[in-house]
Amino acid sequence: MLIVPEREIGALMTRASAFEAVEKVFAAMASGEAYNFPVIREAIGHEDALYGFKGGFDRAGLTLGLKAGGYWPNNLEKFRVINHQSTVFLFDPDTGKVAAMVGGNLLTALRTAAASSVSIAHLARRDAKVMGMVGAGHQATFQLRAALEQRPFEKVIGWNLHPEMLPNIETVADEAGLPFEAVALEGMREADVIVSITSSFAPSLMAAHVSPGTHLACMGTDTRGKQEVEAALLAVATVFTDEVAQSVSIGEAQHAVAEGLISESDVHQIGAVINGSHPGRRSDEEITLFDGTGVGLQDLAVAAAVVDLAVEKGIAIEVDV
Ligand code: NAD
Repeated sequence: MLIVPEREIGALMTRASAFEAVEKVFAAMASGEAYNFPVIREAIGHEDALYGFKGGFDRAGLTLGLKAGGYWPNNLEKFRVINHQSTVFLFDPDTGKVAAMVGGNLLTALRTAAASSVSIAHLARRDAKVMGMVGAGHQATFQLRAALEQRPFEKVIGWNLHPEMLPNIETVADEAGLPFEAVALEGMREADVIVSITSSFAPSLMAAHVSPGTHLACMGTDTRGKQEVEAALLAVATVFTDEVAQSVSIGEAQHAVAEGLISESDVHQIGAVINGSHPGRRSDEEITLFDGTGVGLQDLAVAAAVVDLAVEKGIAIEVDV
């Protein structure tokens, strides 16, 4: 078995490589070659932790495995390690033998950023100039960095419930040489692309805050009850997702479906756009919305890519199990 430790991932994995891996696996999901297994997520009754597994099999990429981990809210204060902890295990699909163990923390951030960036690449207007951010936490910096590579943006605007966090994303705009402006939610009307990445349980962004022709990537809602945008926005948008079953149950679409504003058949797989079996954006006035719920196959795809890179560079650790 090969081990790629967490500490090596930063130097090995690139945004381009994460983009390519996630785009490929979304396409494989839409063509039926890859599928996710049911997600297990348990409150284990110890340290307030939420622990679980996300797994799947990609027959096209021959990637089989799972990501194990979750959220330990006391980690930072008590143990000085980050609260989100995960590890990816890959198995040889021919024999079932364990093939690799890969640190999953940074990979999770990179694969999540890659998902919204794949959606921008395939659904945003070519002439998009203003990038809007709703959210300014840990994950927002990753989303913004990856998003800015997809169009020749000229400006970044941002809103966050906690304005003291806005410098996190302002720094990323600075690094890209772009001006940054903090705006009220109404100010999001100026944006051509909006990424939302918050842990909110009530909508912040309303339909009236979004202009025709905008592409949105809603990335924060990955649990029942969470919500970032008004359900009415999904009713006027063309809705895409990584996986329809997750979108309508734990994703942003759960609310619009529950309220009867849209039905499951109104939610399309982004992979179908990548494959060319869905036309994607049809006009410059259409609002497109990607509901990124996060699937295990994304984790496996970036982990497999990083194992290849580690082997190439001679830094994968080989052990017998
Ligand atoms: P974080 O704690 O660093 O940041 C949380 C963000 O949410 C901050 O911007 C904060 O101001 C904002 N926020 C908190 N309460 C809010 C409220 N009531 N209304 C509006 N905004 C509010 O967390 P993070 O690591 O940046 O993760 C953000 C979210 O993304 C989490 O909910 C996480 O579960 C989700 N996430 C999703 C995926 C995916 O694949 N879809 C992957 C990773 C993380």
